[in-house]
Amino acid sequence: MAAATRLMSRLALVTGGGSGIGRAVCQRLASEGASVVVADISQESASETLGRLPGDLRGQGHMAAVVDVSSKESVKKLLTRIQTHYFQPPSLCVNAAGITQDDFLLNMAEDQFDRVLQVNLKGSFLVLQAVAQALVACGAPKGSIVTVGSIVGKVGNIGQANYGASKAGVEGLTRTAAKELSRFGIRCNCVLPGFISTPMTDKVPEKVMSKMKSLVPLGRMGEPAEVADVCAFLVSDDSRYITGASVEVTGGLFMG
Ligand code: NAP
Repeated sequence: MAAATRLMSRLALVTGGGSGIGRAVCQRLASEGASVVVADISQESASETLGRLPGDLRGQGHMAAVVDVSSKESVKKLLTRIQTHYFQPPSLCVNAAGITQDDFLLNMAEDQFDRVLQVNLKGSFLVLQAVAQALVACGAPKGSIVTVGSIVGKVGNIGQANYGASKAGVEGLTRTAAKELSRFGIRCNCVLPGFISTPMTDKVPEKVMSKMKSLVPLGRMGEPAEVADVCAFLVSDDSRYITGASVEVTGGLFMG
């Protein structure tokens, strides 16, 4: 199917939709015809993304919503709100909400570890579980859920013990979910971005980033839209025989 209409009449939930990769995913899915729920911890940034979405294809209706993915109550409220608004659960989901709180292992405080695990790993679990439960409950014939891991979950990174652990967990979570949910027609896949230009990487010292850039075979950092392209493929029927996969979007960094 032509990419411009590939997601026509599908409903998509994108968390972390207010910034960076999540925002690019919202734009890409909307441009392919999906109705998009832009969910973020910040109402302001979610609304800003909403305002930038193309909505001129038949039957589209987007909305912005606040969610804290680390809170079960908040995720539950979001799903209820979506189902009240659209009379259906989202059959496509990209969970891009995530944070970093970097520090060397020897200095890392317990709450820095806990918070990153809560948002990145527990948040992925809560969103994935809530979407899957809603889909199974309504007997939806198919769904596709994409989690956002990181190449750091595979190879580690200095200063990111908490983040690396959370992202390795996201991959493990996604594979198990793929095994359990395949009998309901729900696919689950993980994207592993390398170093992508977003507000998250803007926080990394320039010296570290230029070292990283020098290691990338394609010679540059990635753009959020380049991750969004892969997410769009993974939620679409073009990837209908792919589940439990982790797809690296790294410009070749750490290809092994
Ligand atoms: P970003 O620009 O900081 O976007 C992340 C978004 O998630 C922000 O809008 C953030 O809001 C939101 N968020 C944070 N905590 C949340 C919560 N508890 N509930 C709901 N939303 C929350 O970062 P990004 O680079 O686009 O990252 C997107 C995803 O890609 C993350 O999972 C990240 O770990 C992953 N990733 C990024 C890279 C990279 O190089 N950029 C590489 C590998 C993986 P606030 O800004 O208000 O906190």
